[in-house]
Amino acid sequence: MLFFISGIRRNFIRPFTILPVIAVVTVNASGQAAPYFQQSVSYDIKVSLDVDRHTLLGRETLTYINHSPDTLTFVWFHLYPNAYKDERSVFAREEEERGINDIFYTRESDRGFMTLDTIRTGTTDLRREYKDGDETEMKAFLPRGLAPGDSISFFMSFTVKIPRFISRLGHLNLHFEITQWYPKIAVYDNTGWHNDGYHVLGEFYGDYGTFQVAVTLPENMWVAATGILTDEKEKARLAEMLDYTKRLDHLSEKALNQQLDSLNSVNKHMEENFRAGNIPLKTISFVAEHVHDFAWACDFRFLVKKTEYANTSIYLFVLPENYTAWKRADQYAQDAVATMTGWVGDYIYPSLCVVNSFNPYGGMEYNNLVLCAVKDQRGFKFLEEVIFHEIGHQWFYGMLGNNEMADAWLDEGLTQFCELRYFKEKYNGSFNDSWFMKTLLGKESTTHKEMFKKQLQLISSYNPALSPASGKAFSYRSRQEFSNVYLRPAFALNMLKYSLGDSVFTASMRTYYRKNLLRHPSGESLISAFNETTRQDWHWFFDEWVYSNKQCNFKAGRLYSQRSAGNDYRTTFEVIRADSIVMPLLVEFKTEKDSLFRRQLFADKVINTIEFSSADRVVSAHIDPDTSLLEFNPKNNSTGWNGLHLSSLLPTESFYQNTIYVTPWLRHNSFSGWGYGGMGIVYDQLPFLFGNESCALGASTYYFPRTNTVDYAFVFRNTTRLFEEFNDYFLNYSKWQGEIKSEVGFEYRLGQYKFEHPSHNFLLRFSYDELFDARYYDPANVQEGKDVTVGIRYTAGLDHNLSTHQFDVEIRKSLNILDGKYDYTKITIEGYNDIPLSRRFSITNYTNAGMIHGTYPAQTGLFISPSGRTIYSDFGCFVGYRYFLDQAFSGGLAGYINENLSGRSLLSTRFDINVNLLNSPKGQIEPLFIKVFFEGAKLWRLKNNSQDDRFVFFDAGIGIKLIGVDLDLPLWKNYKVVHDGMNVSIHPDNRLAFNSILVRFDLTYYLQFALEMK
Ligand SMILES: [Zn+2]
Repeated sequence: MLFFISGIRRNFIRPFTILPVIAVVTVNASGQAAPYFQQSVSYDIKVSLDVDRHTLLGRETLTYINHSPDTLTFVWFHLYPNAYKDERSVFAREEEERGINDIFYTRESDRGFMTLDTIRTGTTDLRREYKDGDETEMKAFLPRGLAPGDSISFFMSFTVKIPRFISRLGHLNLHFEITQWYPKIAVYDNTGWHNDGYHVLGEFYGDYGTFQVAVTLPENMWVAATGILTDEKEKARLAEMLDYTKRLDHLSEKALNQQLDSLNSVNKHMEENFRAGNIPLKTISFVAEHVHDFAWACDFRFLVKKTEYANTSIYLFVLPENYTAWKRADQYAQDAVATMTGWVGDYIYPSLCVVNSFNPYGGMEYNNLVLCAVKDQRGFKFLEEVIFHEIGHQWFYGMLGNNEMADAWLDEGLTQFCELRYFKEKYNGSFNDSWFMKTLLGKESTTHKEMFKKQLQLISSYNPALSPASGKAFSYRSRQEFSNVYLRPAFALNMLKYSLGDSVFTASMRTYYRKNLLRHPSGESLISAFNETTRQDWHWFFDEWVYSNKQCNFKAGRLYSQRSAGNDYRTTFEVIRADSIVMPLLVEFKTEKDSLFRRQLFADKVINTIEFSSADRVVSAHIDPDTSLLEFNPKNNSTGWNGLHLSSLLPTESFYQNTIYVTPWLRHNSFSGWGYGGMGIVYDQLPFLFGNESCALGASTYYFPRTNTVDYAFVFRNTTRLFEEFNDYFLNYSKWQGEIKSEVGFEYRLGQYKFEHPSHNFLLRFSYDELFDARYYDPANVQEGKDVTVGIRYTAGLDHNLSTHQFDVEIRKSLNILDGKYDYTKITIEGYNDIPLSRRFSITNYTNAGMIHGTYPAQTGLFISPSGRTIYSDFGCFVGYRYFLDQAFSGGLAGYINENLSGRSLLSTRFDINVNLLNSPKGQIEPLFIKVFFEGAKLWRLKNNSQDDRFVFFDAGIGIKLIGVDLDLPLWKNYKVVHDGMNVSIHPDNRLAFNSILVRFDLTYYLQFALEMK
């Protein structure tokens, strides 16, 4: 299956001999004080599951041998289920800090906990205490010191309340995933106790040993577990099931579906029996050796399949509703085990279970057991991806048991790397899935460029605001930031593989496996495996790529190729490194006769020069021709670009190419009727034009025959970095529906790319607006003329715990230049707050204050209608459809939608009381809110109004909010605004007002034509 390496590449893939070669010292954990040791454990647990009460009752005997050189006077136990206890647990507080509300939205009766009813050694009850503020960690004091080499047995009885799925341990109806469920002793190693609690980010660390677990549960349940089943009766039952699924797999699709349907009604019936308590209990036993954890899952509906690899039985526990979707899962699991065996080392256990799961994180790894909760989606092989990833962890976490909390990069980075490698080698070039891996690891196109760009922001190589990948897992502030822990080391290892060549790289990985099998490796263990295998020192590489967040970016410099004294050509090429990470790299040269050849270079200087002679003149040079480097800007690697190519009628964008979209559209507005035209966007990254990192350029034009007008728009936005933050400068110009709008500005964003709160946004802009044809609008609310302004805006995103807050202030001053006849200053302050009160209820508040002073055009005034302009429909269709009714965030009241009324000062506020109908955590299912709203506003110095300014406007109504659609139905308001020519009068209107509904949504579909500049 590993066909990837082409002949030409093989010639160049050998260890970069120009690297400094060191005499390899076997790294003996030189930085650490104490020599390596590991403790051993032996667990004997008897547990019964009460499926009605969602509880476990357990008795545990743990025999612990102290191999450390220290006498222990206490030990730490993890009581992880207490993470789900209440809103005060460390897990809950961390969720809150990160704006996750799983615990918050979980009813008390659906939460979980663990009580340790007894803990003793011999007949002595042990004194115990919790870690400060964290009931997931408990210290037990030993009656006498445990000397080096001695062993001790702990007897414990415990109760676990199993939560509905919040995090890892959980149930959904009669489906149970029992993980991190027993009192588990913390690891004591040569750096001390590792009594890390249960955190939102970060996983586990355990001592290797033996587990004997007997589970009592309803006899119809199927159990997937760590280790092997020892119960003969259950083995016979399992054999019957395997026969049954074997027969299922031979059925035609239609017959299979019928069979699965009939299974559904059998299962429904069985569920009723469960509810009635009519199912007798059974006790089954498992034994697991050389593992550091024990997990199990059960469900009476599981269909169990089996496949094999070498001496390992691979069991798949699949839910009937996913049986068809999982039809190739056994193949995926087998491929994963085979691949990892080849790349790293043998899977040493007799059994592996792959379980169809409800884990909210998609997948999770335990010894001999992986959970997988995803389904394939069109174009995405999610199922295979997660199965591979979690099985990959059987090596990096399972057999090579590093501390997942302290060195998360080591298990996640290595696993992610293997996953990327697997997808690249298995599907190279022939499938359209797994865009992310494909794009970064190869040069193929992807249809998901926007998504891809968002992913790039998760890697510190592209987003310098992120911390290095080597931090402690729980120190990361968000899941987004934590992604760097997976991705950056994965791509770093990919570069290392490229530099070393496949065979040397694989040999290094096998050294890592051989030296650390069933031990607790650290980052240093991995580095020394590479050092030992290659006889070179790779510390510099890991220091830069894992322990720092520095960028890699090389740039093509000058290229000279001139005839020398003989008949040869003398060529000089400069590779510019600037402040990039030092890297070995390849340069590909092209001669005037179109032949290609490569040179290697260790680019450690600011300007690195390659010089050589050749028979033909060299016309171009390309750094990193195989796109192996994780470079910040791979587009400045070449001395030239090769022209413009129309590649396809469907979008085939890639990070490394520039794309022009051409989108034909029809537009319509009620004044000028139908317009014909199109939109073209040259989008992203035009370094050959602007020399910067990211750039967007767009233009569109339409012709409206009814009014014989041509409207057009032009946008430009370019991103650069200043003080480690991303900044944009922009220029927009449009002539659209009787007005010219243009602005040029600069935006500085602070904290946003660190996924930080609060984030600060500063915007400075100069605008030129000209209204030259007022016929498009309600003349009462607009005035023709030119308006030149300078504006400065500050926006703070103040997300705090579960609430969202935003604050925005803007000052605009008109400049009396370019014939602008206006002279005014306008200040607006806007506030937005969204505060959850309970799982069901939340409150949203919008508050606006504004003031305008001087001579201003009518359209710039402060309006109480939701839109400053009278609304003329404006939509485009054909291959695209767009409907957009803007509620300009200007203090407008939904009840006054068609009653434009403006003034010089405004204070308005709105409260929405939202009821979450689905009662679901926000992150899991998009909530469906119904809302009741109340609004009030006071305008001062009304325009064209003969009455006094004594009106305070109110309205109230109901609405719904669902996935981007926001509908307001005002039911009552206290005034009615009547326009009579240029005069406005206001009348009491205490009645139901069904006259307006405000809907806000924005849906756009495009068909794009792509032109690529390669
Ligand atoms: Zn993982």
